[in-house]
Amino acid sequence: MAEEIAAALVTAAPDEWDAVAGHARTKARLQVLLREKRMPHAVLFSGPRGVGKWKLATATAAALLCMSPKDGLACGGCESCRHMAAGTHPDFYAVTPEKSGKAARSIKIEQIRDLRAEAARVPRLSARRVILLDDVETMNDAAANALLKTLEEPAGNTSFLLVTGARQALLPTILSRCMGLQFPPLGDDAMVRVLAVQGVPEDVRAPLVALSEGSAGRALQLFEEDALSFREDALSALESLSRLSVEDVFALGARLGTMERERLLEWLRYFRLFIRDLLAIYGGSAALLNSDLEARLFALSGQFSKAWAFVVAREAAEAARRIETSNATPRLAIESFLFRAGKKS
Ligand SMILES: [Zn+2]
Repeated sequence: MAEEIAAALVTAAPDEWDAVAGHARTKARLQVLLREKRMPHAVLFSGPRGVGKWKLATATAAALLCMSPKDGLACGGCESCRHMAAGTHPDFYAVTPEKSGKAARSIKIEQIRDLRAEAARVPRLSARRVILLDDVETMNDAAANALLKTLEEPAGNTSFLLVTGARQALLPTILSRCMGLQFPPLGDDAMVRVLAVQGVPEDVRAPLVALSEGSAGRALQLFEEDALSFREDALSALESLSRLSVEDVFALGARLGTMERERLLEWLRYFRLFIRDLLAIYGGSAALLNSDLEARLFALSGQFSKAWAFVVAREAAEAARRIETSNATPRLAIESFLFRAGKKS
């Protein structure tokens, strides 16, 4: 799903520079560099997931390749811009992490070798070539060193746009070769605007923003996954926790235990967020993450003690750890969690 959202963002029309929410200063800085043709040959876009890095990097690529830029930005109508919109630009080359076997997605040394060959080619349509790399932190050292060579000896007129969600994981030598642009998490207003533009109904925008920590991509993903009903499922479980019979726990464990690991961890994550809100209530704070569920959370806070909330928080973290590290089957981990958490209410 995240990939689908990323793909939707990539195929955005080249004139969608303005559609990237927030980041006004970064956009202004980029536009000056584009307009004055002073763009460094390697730029690193870094910041949390889903804040618009990839979208703005793609719009920057379109602007660099455009044959008649307007005020530094892509015109949207020339042959280059039409190819960018169609995903067929001969001078644009994107590298994204690949999956192989059971290993995590990563950018492989072979991909960097292909990239080096691409970088050396003469542009066919535009005045330059642009190479865009996503999630560059997934390169291993061999791949990173191969990329470094390319960045050190730029062949011809090629621009490199690197995107990362984990700047601290990059080799210092890569960092020193790039102009860095930082993308902080989006503010709530910018997030709400993005969700509105994407057609997310008004009544769910605020809870989605509250759960997404400034990442519009994350908020859209949660919306697509119907995360709010999933959150409701976790809250109902929490509300019924003290009343669960042994049979109920086994039934709930059986239902949750058949979920994919990632999904179950997500369920536990909601559970932990509720506990966090309960602790905020005990602490006298009204700033809840799940502010739309305030009445039910206040009712819960009367039902349980603060000491119990700490125990559940610890047990939920432990269950998540066991599921993550595959130390227990998901079903066993969740049943054990429900028994421990239910008993101490
Ligand atoms: Zn153009």
